[in-house]
Amino acid sequence: MLTNEYVKRVYAQVERRDGDQPEFLQAVQEVLESLQPVVEKHPEYEKVGVLERLVEPERVVKFRVAWTDDEGKVQVNRGYRVQFNSAIGPYKGGLRFHPSVNEGVIKFLGFEQILKNSLTTLPMGGGKGGSDFDPKGRSDAEVMRFCQAFMTELCRHIGQFTDVPAGDINVGAREIGYLFGQYKRIRDEYSGVLTGKGLEFGGSLARTEATGYGLCYYTAEAMRVLRGDSFEGKTVVISGSGNVAIFATEKAQALGAKVVTASDSNGYVYDPNGIQLDVVKDIKLGHRGRIKEYAERVPGAEYHEGCAGVWTVPCDIALPCATQNEIDEASAEALVKNGCTVVCEGANMPSTPEAIAVYQKNGLLYGPAKAANAGGVAVSGLEMSQNSYRLSWTFEEVDAKLKSIMETIVADSLAAAKEYGHEGDLMLGANAAGFVKVANAMVAQGVL
Ligand code: GLU
Repeated sequence: MLTNEYVKRVYAQVERRDGDQPEFLQAVQEVLESLQPVVEKHPEYEKVGVLERLVEPERVVKFRVAWTDDEGKVQVNRGYRVQFNSAIGPYKGGLRFHPSVNEGVIKFLGFEQILKNSLTTLPMGGGKGGSDFDPKGRSDAEVMRFCQAFMTELCRHIGQFTDVPAGDINVGAREIGYLFGQYKRIRDEYSGVLTGKGLEFGGSLARTEATGYGLCYYTAEAMRVLRGDSFEGKTVVISGSGNVAIFATEKAQALGAKVVTASDSNGYVYDPNGIQLDVVKDIKLGHRGRIKEYAERVPGAEYHEGCAGVWTVPCDIALPCATQNEIDEASAEALVKNGCTVVCEGANMPSTPEAIAVYQKNGLLYGPAKAANAGGVAVSGLEMSQNSYRLSWTFEEVDAKLKSIMETIVADSLAAAKEYGHEGDLMLGANAAGFVKVANAMVAQGVL
């Protein structure tokens, strides 16, 4: 509930201006609610309009992307880059290629990215971009032509000291390679302008694994500190089967848990014996197939149509790693009813506000996305450091830094939650801890 007058006024303005962007409103409302005790303690933020400025992107770029498909037909998509906040570093955040992409979706992601990047403790501002391009069923050559057309426009807005994009849904190593090649060709400049690059051309070891591994490091640390518990012997439900889900499964298994599900936009598989990750990797990373194939290949595994059913599978820990709003109130209630006591988010904003209310009412350990999934962008930050140094660290070095960053996020979130009178609240703590650093930088730099 919004009770603070300043916060209410700021939210009303966002509602008036951006009422047609439901995901953005949802992200803003959650953050503003958490920040009420912070602005009450720091009246200086209101004096220089920090919140009014925080909810307004510094720049929104929207552009046509025209390309030719394999039949010779011209296709037109929309491209976006939202440069949300550069108070603590160059804009940083991924690119998403998905038919659901629109300005509101990119704005919600960019807004979340501001506080997420701040939580990593690395110097990165917040940004996000993407397109409504659907790569499903497209040939490799079509994806390359699309990426080249997309970068032909985007390249004038980004740079290693300005804005550093990376991957998100449907943007992985292949797409980053094509995007990097086109940037280099047009600008004649070899720099760390993108992260998530291939290891041969400036990528960081452990970047591929970072979001999923980081999610498990965060969850393990939060469980250790708040519950004196661990992954050992737990049953885990994971949604998705992309980069985040695959490496979350890998790390959860390594930490002694049994992961029993995987899903995609068509449905989910339940494997009571524990997911065989090599099969999922072969399907998804090997030939970009559908998860249904898993049940055809692994005896004892079941496939069910419809991805929301995954939340009815009994578990101790749920790690949503697919997409926004994938857990609604009914799904959250099903999780609680079947014994789940921990929800940590690998995807961005996977829980609706009603689902979060269910977690809170039932005392679940809830790790919000901007903290729990910050490992991806954290290692992107480490990739930027390595590019600047012109050297590369070993897998073990990067992985150790990632683990330490995730543990620091838990500690910083809990410290902020305590400071603002909500001890143990990882959501309020993440929003407050991420915000204060950005807000102080905004105050110091004057009204911009
Ligand atoms: N797309 C990822 C995220 O949501 C990573 C962004 C990055 O590495 O810049 O945080």
